[in-house]
Amino acid sequence: MKKVHSLKSIRMDIPKMCLRVCSILLIFFAFVMPGQAQPLAKHVVLIGLDGWAAHDLDKASDIPNIRMLMQGGSVTMHKRSVLPSSSGVNWASMFMGVGPESHGFTTWDSEKHDLPFSFKNEHGIFPSIFSIIREIYPNAETGCTFEWEPIKYVVDTLAISYVEYFPGGADRVEDNCTRLEQYIREHKPLFFAPCFDGLDGTGHSKGWYSRDYYDYLTRLDRCIGRIIQALKDAGIYDETVIIVTGDHGGHDKGHGTLAMEDMESPLVIFGKNVRQGYQIKSPVVQYDVAATIAYVLGIELPQVWRGKPVKEAFR
Ligand SMILES: [Zn+2]
Repeated sequence: MKKVHSLKSIRMDIPKMCLRVCSILLIFFAFVMPGQAQPLAKHVVLIGLDGWAAHDLDKASDIPNIRMLMQGGSVTMHKRSVLPSSSGVNWASMFMGVGPESHGFTTWDSEKHDLPFSFKNEHGIFPSIFSIIREIYPNAETGCTFEWEPIKYVVDTLAISYVEYFPGGADRVEDNCTRLEQYIREHKPLFFAPCFDGLDGTGHSKGWYSRDYYDYLTRLDRCIGRIIQALKDAGIYDETVIIVTGDHGGHDKGHGTLAMEDMESPLVIFGKNVRQGYQIKSPVVQYDVAATIAYVLGIELPQVWRGKPVKEAFR
């Protein structure tokens, strides 16, 4: 028998139909739409300080901007480098979300990887945080600057809007900082990673925890202050998460060993939706940095990554 709907019964069905459509949309966004969740902030700035050791940071007497970020944000002084505690290996892990067994860089100089990538994206490189941002936000403005050239091999430069290498930049860090300020003010990037090299160079020439080492950290602190001011000038400070960390620490005039002074760098997370004055309790490894940035931006982690977001740092 054919069922005949009266106008009244159709009217009564409208709320049910709306409910059904809403349910279908909900299921679609929850399970079918790939890779996105609710972002915790609209912008992330990752400030990378090569050779920034967690050990003896208390002896740094003149770093007011870093202290402000630490006191107003979430911090661990026990973020571990991956092995070995060398630069290329750890910059790769910081950006690529995996350890050396997957990204293949095992020595200090990241120009060539010693193992094949365990997975390659369309650019022929292991996916970095920049790659996955580009997949989810195709038109997003992203930037990466560095004073140590090999960083260009581990960030997937083809996936980044603005890339700049500052040759000999550690001596002119204040000038470089002027470029960073301009970039932030003009482009308001969704994700920006300025990476500084001079602290590591000072450690190698004058010694980690020497007066010169802390003096150089003070120069970097001034630059961090200028980056914060540029975010305010750009009108995005209140919507930004700032992360400051290092690739490794050091001792005497080197690093790369199993000494805990080499193995641990601070991880400071500050800004929108970040817990204030909070000591991060869970263990953190270098590759968790990439995962945390993705988490803040509402991006689901790629299956090939191994890092986990530091969720406890957020409200
Ligand atoms: Zn380094």
